[in-house]
Amino acid sequence: SEKVKEEKPVVEKITVGHVHMSGCTGCLVSFADNYEGLFKILDNYADLVYALTLVDVRHIPEMDVALVEGSVCLQDKCSVEEIKEAREKAKIVVALGGCAAYGNITRFCRGGQWNQPQMESYVPIADLIDVDLYIPGCAPTPQQIRNVCIMAYLLLKGTDEQKELAGA
Ligand code: SF4
Repeated sequence: SEKVKEEKPVVEKITVGHVHMSGCTGCLVSFADNYEGLFKILDNYADLVYALTLVDVRHIPEMDVALVEGSVCLQDKCSVEEIKEAREKAKIVVALGGCAAYGNITRFCRGGQWNQPQMESYVPIADLIDVDLYIPGCAPTPQQIRNVCIMAYLLLKGTDEQKELAGA
């Protein structure tokens, strides 16, 4: 008898980006540490559209979810502009990790362009923009990050019931 080919249900993918502020990249490493779980997400539910060093895109694109790592150094004008741009271009902004959520953990600007600015110069991203979801931890666990990605997916693409469950 002819084998019936198993068909995957077609789901609409969301777009996800990683926006790097003043962080140590540990959060991104933790995101990548999802291994097969990450591949499953990227194969079926999300496209990674922005992540310096991983995706060859220089300017922040429109995206569904921005995972923002790192606090914002107020002395670095570019960072201040960039976080605002991320807010304009993303439907959901996630403060990924303690630096983005609470500020003041790391104390270096991107590229080391500022020489040890004062601690008060580093602020959580919520000081400058509205934040939709927070993932605490330094670094957050891979599972925490994955769960928040799934929550963001349900908020954007889920049924009304799923959206309600995800806290919409
Ligand atoms: Fe690095 Fe921790 Fe800050 Fe993430 S929260 S950027 S792992 S110092």
